[in-house]
Amino acid sequence: MRFTVRRRATFVLVAGLLSVGIAVGAQVVRTADATVRGLTERDFPRVKKLAENVYAYEELGNPITTNLAFTTNSLIIVTRDGVVVVDGQGSEAQTKRLVDEIAKITPQPIKYMIIGADHVDHIGGNAAFPGGVTFIAHPTSKAVIERMASAAAGRGGAPARRPIPIPQETVADKRTLTLGGTDIQIMFLGRAHTGGDLEVYLPRENIMWMSEVFFNRLYPSVGGGFTAFPTEWIETIKKAEAMKAGLYVPNHGFVDNPQVLNEEIVNFRRALENRQLPARARERRVRGQAAARGRRVARSRLSIGQSGRVPVLVSRRQQHARRGPKGLRRRGRPGTIVTESAHASRVRD
Ligand SMILES: [Zn+2]
Repeated sequence: MRFTVRRRATFVLVAGLLSVGIAVGAQVVRTADATVRGLTERDFPRVKKLAENVYAYEELGNPITTNLAFTTNSLIIVTRDGVVVVDGQGSEAQTKRLVDEIAKITPQPIKYMIIGADHVDHIGGNAAFPGGVTFIAHPTSKAVIERMASAAAGRGGAPARRPIPIPQETVADKRTLTLGGTDIQIMFLGRAHTGGDLEVYLPRENIMWMSEVFFNRLYPSVGGGFTAFPTEWIETIKKAEAMKAGLYVPNHGFVDNPQVLNEEIVNFRRALENRQLPARARERRVRGQAAARGRRVARSRLSIGQSGRVPVLVSRRQQHARRGPKGLRRRGRPGTIVTESAHASRVRD
């Protein structure tokens, strides 16, 4: 039975992709930069059908005139008893567009909104979801949102936007949400970009929404005031890879065809690993020098540019070398991984 179901799911997936004109194996320019792909603001938002009743939603998070023209994605799961959205958008206007696009796909109401990433570019617009939506997050993310709410209340004056709704339900490890006959597995595979990173797996369709654990052809901000957990992040991706999903969907960067995405998640993990290698060597050297003098190493000497609780693995010089003098402007060459670190002070990726 299991085999039959899996075979059917594969067919649905391929048929779904063909129906929106994404030929499997077609040449795509491997870049997150919308301008390099010849796209304009008018091309967004874009809805891509991944399987029967499963859609990826690509929205341009920043104006195309900036060098931050990459997508912020959401997942839309339609069931016969309502819609589940995974990861939202950064502003209420953007989230309203998402809600409007969902209404074009189905008359079903949005019942659940799963927060896979608690950074503002994915939750900032959550107040624009209709009333009655149940928000689900990891306990760590719920605490982050509660802190945001109390900080906003403490500032007084006119708030910049409506408060982000506090999640009513949490998933610390794993939960299967069954809605309208569709199983939706919400899971925490370990800390990665935010610390409360949740993934969503659809067993029937064999699709894995990776949230901000997977950036397609973007290098994430991991230092400079960002909470990120590079060492654990790599292990989290490995756990996801071990699930052998048919399709890994990124939260940032384009939702390309399965062949490309399944290669790119490996490339992304390797990029994280490569970045750590020099830092590990440096850590060994620093520890060795200290041990020779009979001293212990201060944590600050091992942790450069990292706000998380794991030792860090990149130096500022490496960060600079990676992003280059012109930041994302280097990114246009097909086949290169780009970084958004240059903009760490302006956006939370
Ligand atoms: Zn983000």
